[in-house]
Amino acid sequence: LQSHPFDFSPNGFRHLIQTIKARRHSNEVYQTSTMSALLEGLYDGDVTIGELLRHGDFGLGTFNGLDGELVVLGGQAYRLRSDGTATIADPSVLTPFAVVTWFQPRNTLSVSEPCDRATLKARIDDTLESQNLMVAVRVTGHFNSMRTRTVSEQHQPYRPFIHATDDQQETTFTNVSGTLIGFRMPQFEQGISVAGYHSHFISDDRTYGGHALDYEFASGTVEFSTSSDLHLSLQHTPGFLEAQFDNDDIDNQIRKTEGG
Ligand SMILES: [Zn+2]
Repeated sequence: LQSHPFDFSPNGFRHLIQTIKARRHSNEVYQTSTMSALLEGLYDGDVTIGELLRHGDFGLGTFNGLDGELVVLGGQAYRLRSDGTATIADPSVLTPFAVVTWFQPRNTLSVSEPCDRATLKARIDDTLESQNLMVAVRVTGHFNSMRTRTVSEQHQPYRPFIHATDDQQETTFTNVSGTLIGFRMPQFEQGISVAGYHSHFISDDRTYGGHALDYEFASGTVEFSTSSDLHLSLQHTPGFLEAQFDNDDIDNQIRKTEGG
């Protein structure tokens, strides 16, 4: 600060406002904790939903104790529980894993022919300039089918994620309109995040949804933007500080639990 005294002139203020706006609008990806920590059963994080929403208006994750799937859309956070309900998440509740960004789509694909998840992923992949950046993806429209899962609340002592997901509820919705909120992360982020595609679904009326396992997209739009900046915020919880991250089966376990 000594070497950069604040410039109180109109130009100085204009520069400050431009800097704040640029930061506010940069599509940095913010993430709290890691998938590796979730695999270890570290389900109690230290970041509130209110704090999370200061870093983005679009994203996904889960809640402490794995009590539901998290969707952030249009600056609102939703909790999708295994009983099939969706509610607005209280800003004071905590998350052990979440990823958000300020969503500013730079590319749009129109889909008018039905396509399954694998086909849609391939179409998006074909339009990406690189496989090595982070991509936020929003898919809006009509789905002939949507198979989702919702994790179920866990109680201490926590089991590893690979076993906790045995309790997940799977539901298939047919003929639904809604939005997929997702990210495509580079392969080298496996373990930090989920490599490849990871998306959560919420219905248009915001009353149901979950972690998307498979679907048939009938028609609508796919919007996405790439980001090269990752803000990784690690937990300061006793569990995280003391954990031994020596799991050599991460890739396999994430593919199994996330349905990659
Ligand atoms: Zn998920």
